[in-house]
Amino acid sequence: MQQYQRSKVCRANSWLVVGSSAPFVPISLGARQTCPVTRTEGTSGISEVDHGNAELLTQSVRGWFEVHARDLPWRDPGTSAWGVLISEVMSQQTPVARVAPAWQRWMAQWPTPADLAAASPADVIRAWDRLGYPRRALWLREAAIKICEDFDSAVPSRYEDLLTLPGVGDYTAAAVAAFAFGQRVVVLDTNVRRVIARSVSGVETPESASPTVAERRLAEAMLPIDGAAAAHWSVACMELGALVCTSRSPDCGECVLKSTCAWVAAGRPAAANRARPTQRFTGTDRQVRGKLMAILRAADGPVTARALGSAWPDDTQRMRCLDTLIADGLVEPLPRSRYRLPT
Ligand code: SF4
Repeated sequence: MQQYQRSKVCRANSWLVVGSSAPFVPISLGARQTCPVTRTEGTSGISEVDHGNAELLTQSVRGWFEVHARDLPWRDPGTSAWGVLISEVMSQQTPVARVAPAWQRWMAQWPTPADLAAASPADVIRAWDRLGYPRRALWLREAAIKICEDFDSAVPSRYEDLLTLPGVGDYTAAAVAAFAFGQRVVVLDTNVRRVIARSVSGVETPESASPTVAERRLAEAMLPIDGAAAAHWSVACMELGALVCTSRSPDCGECVLKSTCAWVAAGRPAAANRARPTQRFTGTDRQVRGKLMAILRAADGPVTARALGSAWPDDTQRMRCLDTLIADGLVEPLPRSRYRLPT
């Protein structure tokens, strides 16, 4: 977990990346230049990357991260691979401000996979509280059980092994391999994709909802060779996307890449596939499911259908949502129209 941490050591203009023997020197890109990652058409038809210039860009962002990274609890150098996995799953669909205290509670209660594997489904659902998408809590417990059964109670380091864990997809497997084990893998979340799309490809947003092959190749070509440096670049790029190069209002004037950004150079053209308006929450099944879960989490024992009626007035929508919660394994139906969290 040490590899991508912000260094605690700063000597004037030279930062030492923890886990790397080489001094990390942030590079100023200075006054206006062309985009440092020159892309040309290779014989394969796949765009190629000028590795020297890509290094300038990645070092620049890494230098920015050293100064501006948020102090999140899982970025502590002592965080275990288990802690990294928990943080990545929790952060997938929940803002980090809400994740941070929940992560600390979870790590205090279940500091190892074996601890969580011994917990009941009801315990983990209650602890998940209001983080949203509570199926993730059950997946984490199932992942903990698999880690204990198949990996000697230790989070596996291989990307392929990580992918076998319940609820772990490409992004999470790559993030854990990089951030917990310092491996050189492409970590492509929405923030990284957006920063690369704008700063290198000169478009406002990636062209598709999921990363394309060309996007992956470009991201891979930009990765520093050293595993620790690659992980450091990935987390730095994610942070730049989260704090500066945001989806709706990028703060280009304050961005470390402003003098070389391809999208800025092109005049910030709007994407043809501009983001959809944010989905409303009020009245959605998501809201109703959350209200039903809140009642069940707060109860000491089974809850009657009548009591659940207070969650939402629309009987049809409420029962539909209850059925989906049962199908997801988050609610257990009992005789006589009673319900409880799974035991
Ligand atoms: S200059 Fe603007 S668009 Fe380009 S990477 Fe920075 S914030 Fe994003």
